[in-house]
Amino acid sequence: MAEAGSFAERVKQQADIVRVVGEYVRLKKTGKDFSGLCPFHQEKTPSFTVSPLKQIFYCFGCGKGGDVFNFVMDLEKSAFPEAVRTVAEKCGIAIPRPRERSPEERQENQQRSALVEMHREAQAFFTKQISGTLEGKAARAYLEDRGLDNKAIDRFGIGYAPSDGGALLRVLKQKYPEKLLVESGLISRGEQGGRLFDRFRRRITFPIANDSGKIVAFGARALGDDQPKYLNSPETPIYSKSNVLYHMDRAKEALRRSDFAVLVEGYMDAIAVARAGISNVVASCGTSLAEPQIKLLSRFTKRVIINYDPDNAGQLAAERSVALLLEQDFEVRVLALPPVGDKKADPDLFIRERGVEEYTKLLKDSPPYVDYLIARARKMDLTTGEGKRRAVNFLLPYVQKIPNTILRSEWATRIAQQLHLDEPVLRAALSKAATQRHSELKIQPELVGRSAKPVERRLIRMLAEAGGFRRELAQRLQAAQLYHGLETEKVFAALIVASLADEPMQATEVAAQLEERDRRILFEILFEEASEPTWEEAVSCVEALQHRQAERELAEVQRSIEANPPVTEMRGLLEKKQDLMRRLAAAR
Ligand SMILES: [Zn+2]
Repeated sequence: MAEAGSFAERVKQQADIVRVVGEYVRLKKTGKDFSGLCPFHQEKTPSFTVSPLKQIFYCFGCGKGGDVFNFVMDLEKSAFPEAVRTVAEKCGIAIPRPRERSPEERQENQQRSALVEMHREAQAFFTKQISGTLEGKAARAYLEDRGLDNKAIDRFGIGYAPSDGGALLRVLKQKYPEKLLVESGLISRGEQGGRLFDRFRRRITFPIANDSGKIVAFGARALGDDQPKYLNSPETPIYSKSNVLYHMDRAKEALRRSDFAVLVEGYMDAIAVARAGISNVVASCGTSLAEPQIKLLSRFTKRVIINYDPDNAGQLAAERSVALLLEQDFEVRVLALPPVGDKKADPDLFIRERGVEEYTKLLKDSPPYVDYLIARARKMDLTTGEGKRRAVNFLLPYVQKIPNTILRSEWATRIAQQLHLDEPVLRAALSKAATQRHSELKIQPELVGRSAKPVERRLIRMLAEAGGFRRELAQRLQAAQLYHGLETEKVFAALIVASLADEPMQATEVAAQLEERDRRILFEILFEEASEPTWEEAVSCVEALQHRQAERELAEVQRSIEANPPVTEMRGLLEKKQDLMRRLAAAR
């Protein structure tokens, strides 16, 4: 894929795979290599390995492997050219002017950058409204009432969309065609192809940025009693709500530093918590968490404190989020804030009324999610058998999602105690849940690599790596077809073709052509401890293969002889047997 002399090739030579992978996976140095928890499958002990020497990665658990581009492509689900650019950017390698793309690609790119630009202009428009117009002043007063001063308004780019309904449209339509205006989600069209108008009217606007800090959408809160109270941008070519976490772009550093995230529901909560000095806060923006959001978060931390609204919808969303986070092996705690007076408190209200210090303290002491869930279950009617059954059924799925068996059974006991369960049936259900785990990924590393004999492994390693005599070695193996019939035949065949080609050999590209089982063999061999190969060693390995080939032939000849063939054939077979036996004797 990385053609010689191409930009991709240059990036690959300059890029440091450890640094790039390190942005996604926490890596620890182990000997010459680095290892960490695999981002492609769920695991508790690291089997994901990166070799700075060879500039490749491989997971001994799930078998994913390749070079720095394969890694980015797999993880970001991006195409090769995109992966090259990503790696170049991460490594500070200057990107040349983009090559000519296909017309569709070019059009899509143009559309996307136009949409981003449009959002930048909309942001400028909204912030101008809040600082300079009468209506904007009212919005500002409302925000001040909620404890947001000018400094906060500036810091979070809060703006105002006027009630006029055509103000933003008038600005944007001078530069952009109607179709694009509608596609941006900033402008709506009336029914049956009617006229255009601003989507956000008489609302306070909150810019929503993607994780690289570009504004791709807006959230907007009604100033008066207009419904809905919160209105967000629709899904557009640059925005998908399940891919974006509010405040993520500003939280990255703090997430890395503190190694945990505070997860809240809305932007007002995120802003309140961030202003309290807890910058590692992100908001899922109304909906419960989606899997891509969790993946995004897991690039920075795998520990989360969920602090959703105390109302019913919020609690249901919290429960759903707990389940999803557990599936991704997160360590989850849940903060349920106590009421303020007789009001149920969301983070925003709580911090305003009770102060930063108390919030921080509660956050620090927030219980593991199971305690939170048991507390929820205890609110159910536990006086009847039926009620208890319901409570247990509510808890069972979570118990099953705990990755660790011992923890699972501890929690099962604890639930039984807390819910005062004497019913054997319910106890049985709990202990069954403790021994099983439904959502568990069944990855059984087959030890396929071990099936290759040491000589084969050594030769494969030489073909994949040794620069000096690779070609000559490949020719020898090819000429005598020494690898035919071996377990590793396909690996040899691919490596020999690559070694005899004129281009420099890329082991990862050879791997990409192989089937799963053979790919694993190759990667596992590449990661074995090995000394520098010599030509003498290569020759002796080749001889060993020759010997094995002769043995195999001899066995075959012997079988044919025992089958008692016609005399004419028998003579030839006997001669061949003699010859093979001489060869084998000479080799000893
Ligand atoms: Zn893996």
